[in-house]
Amino acid sequence: MPAPPGRCPGCGTELAQGLVACPSCRRLLFADRLRELAGTARAAERDGDIGSALADWRTALELLPQGSTQHRQVLASINTLSERLDAEGGRARNTARPTSRDGKKLGAVGAGLAGVALLVWKFKFAIGFLLTKGKLLLLGLTKSGTLLSMLLSFGVYWTVWGWPFALGLVLSIYVHEMGHVVALKHYGIRASAPMFIPGIGAMVRLHQYPASPREDARVGLAGPIWGLGAALAAWGVYLAFHLPIFAAIAAVGAWINLFNLVPVWQLDGGRGFRALARRERWLLVGMLAAAWVVTEESLLVLLLIAAGFRAAGGAAPKDSDRRTFLEYAFLVAALSALSAIPVPGIGN
Ligand SMILES: [Zn+2]
Ligand SMILES: [Zn+2]
Repeated sequence: MPAPPGRCPGCGTELAQGLVACPSCRRLLFADRLRELAGTARAAERDGDIGSALADWRTALELLPQGSTQHRQVLASINTLSERLDAEGGRARNTARPTSRDGKKLGAVGAGLAGVALLVWKFKFAIGFLLTKGKLLLLGLTKSGTLLSMLLSFGVYWTVWGWPFALGLVLSIYVHEMGHVVALKHYGIRASAPMFIPGIGAMVRLHQYPASPREDARVGLAGPIWGLGAALAAWGVYLAFHLPIFAAIAAVGAWINLFNLVPVWQLDGGRGFRALARRERWLLVGMLAAAWVVTEESLLVLLLIAAGFRAAGGAAPKDSDRRTFLEYAFLVAALSALSAIPVPGIGN
């Protein structure tokens, strides 16, 4: 964001850093830049490049005072365009953009330009967390102890296959994170490239907030969708070449993605649930219970309890979001099935 002038050009009031409008005369301090952004956004829209138009409008939003009419109008444009993007789905033409724009968007790593830095933590390996706080909680939840056995088998896989297994998992997590990055780019939301935190997982730092729960859900569930793709690919390699390590990578990868669907905090599942109406949340509670009965995957108990809380209490939108609902239901079914595939050579 460009620095504001020292004094308001309209009334001469001394201006503090970070202001977007003069507190005395309400003059917009970035009027020229806003006109420019509106121009490029409309041009991109005419070209059918909705992602670029959205990126420009989101930048403009940061240069407008919260609660102002212009702010509301730009936010409304963002939501309209973003819904149009969803309606067009995979048919959106013009997905390729000039590299200079791409560089600008992805190059904002760590710049903190938006002043809005939301840390989206992903406990990909889940191990450190589960072994400290989670273990006690989960011990009470799981009679069969599948979760603990899962963690133990994780350790066994590691011992048996060593670094190739670890490498396979890191690649699966990278694919998951790229799902988020591609979705963010699709919606023109500025974010960092994925960063890995050894032993904990990976995260993508958002420089701008998604404009609606619907956008947040799309971005959130894109990670597990791509992660499911990675797990399916590993399983496919196993089926084709009978290399047991790929069965292990598929099963553990699927389990990690399923863990990310726990509908709490800023986990991917939490972001998906925020867009769902109460009725849809209850339907998923029923579905999770059914998936648990079928697969006996204890991790599903954790998802079930969290989903129950999100269905029974807290804020929920009135309108349903069928796509988020279907994505979440499909992910739960596919990931819990994959995480239950037998891994040969490891007596489970
Ligand atoms: Zn002024
Ligand atoms: Zn994720």
